[in-house]
Amino acid sequence: MSKRIVSDLELKGKRVLIRVDFNVPMKEGKITDDTRVRAALPTIEYVLNHGGKAIVFSHLGRVKSEEDLAKNDLAPVAKHLEELLGKKVTFINATRGKELEDAVSKLQDGEILMFQNTRYEDLDGKKESKNDPELGAYWASLGDVFVNDAFGTAHRAHASNVGIASNVKESAAGFLLEKEIKYIGGAVDNPVHPYVAILGGAKVSDKIGVISELINKADKILIGGGMMFTFLKALGNNIGKSLCEDDKLDLAKELLEKAAGKIVLPVDAVCAKEFADVPGVVKSVSDLAEDDMGLDIGPKTLELFADALKDAKTVVWNGPMGVFEMKNYEAGTIGVCQAIAHLTGANTIVGGGDSVAAVEKLGYADKFSHVSTGGGASLEYLEGKTLPGIACISEK
Ligand code: ADP
Ligand code: MG
Repeated sequence: MSKRIVSDLELKGKRVLIRVDFNVPMKEGKITDDTRVRAALPTIEYVLNHGGKAIVFSHLGRVKSEEDLAKNDLAPVAKHLEELLGKKVTFINATRGKELEDAVSKLQDGEILMFQNTRYEDLDGKKESKNDPELGAYWASLGDVFVNDAFGTAHRAHASNVGIASNVKESAAGFLLEKEIKYIGGAVDNPVHPYVAILGGAKVSDKIGVISELINKADKILIGGGMMFTFLKALGNNIGKSLCEDDKLDLAKELLEKAAGKIVLPVDAVCAKEFADVPGVVKSVSDLAEDDMGLDIGPKTLELFADALKDAKTVVWNGPMGVFEMKNYEAGTIGVCQAIAHLTGANTIVGGGDSVAAVEKLGYADKFSHVSTGGGASLEYLEGKTLPGIACISEK
């Protein structure tokens, strides 16, 4: 890919519109995890250090009613950004209007302002989320160039990404987006083989697109998590009370046929009698009783998966192997983390909201080449879909 990057732009004296992803978790007006704010710093600092006038904006949560406005106020995030940058951030409590326009025109080179939650515009006819043409053109008129660094919303065409990009002369990816394009885009377009994909998580139905795509691209697909049971049942196993999507049994069969041996299914599972954090019993997948509920992959499966991974040069992982939120059912997910951590010279990527949370909770995030910042966006990217928030960026 040859998308323009922020470092390709002439920034001195330019008004630089920077779309970031500051959709941080908040509790009573306090940020509970500032990872996303920190992740945007390299792009913002680069713009400021190169004499740009930074106009920063993001969405936060969803805005459907008046009450959602106060709940999703970006002012505390602007304050936090100011602390992290060690530099004044002018916050404009509006998404348009005179105060914002005046503040933009007063900005000096190397100064920064942030405006209110782009989704405040959703209150009146979903202008942001439906990419209202007037709104995108208006925001574009506030700047000279556009930098998109928000991967989390790149799978959506909103006014704050696609709308702006189609109204400015020049746009570029920020460093965070660049990394997503390099790693996930690289795995999609140009993976080094052997390419091993690991899929898990709750449901097959969430991952049909990605499984179908990977059948064409990967050399092996290891399936764990709740979704493994739909495949196991499709093959005639009794899965007891384990998670299953009965309306996807035919599809599972079809996928297994299409994959022609590429799909590796678990041979054992850790089973409980109820959905609770109590020690489970390891059983062969052919031995589950009616009242067994499989909550993790077993040790023999882990060996099988580790063996399949050992020569991998590209690894893509989406979906935890078991109910990692419970101590008794985290071993499968930890085991896969360890197998990946042992690889040398491999490009290893983990994506997906819960998968990334698992990898972070278990302390393996730094063992991956890339931990994707976008849940839905990373899944759609892996499905081989074109992401509008990336497609709209100028080519080099
Ligand atoms: P991601 O957000 O990474 O795409 P998903 O949302 O698809 O992942 O799935 C994550 C959830 O799947 C976790 O909450 C985990 O507890 C659950 N899960 C994994 N294995 C099982 C299982 N065997 N039974 C029930 N739930 C499971
Ligand atoms: Mg999830």
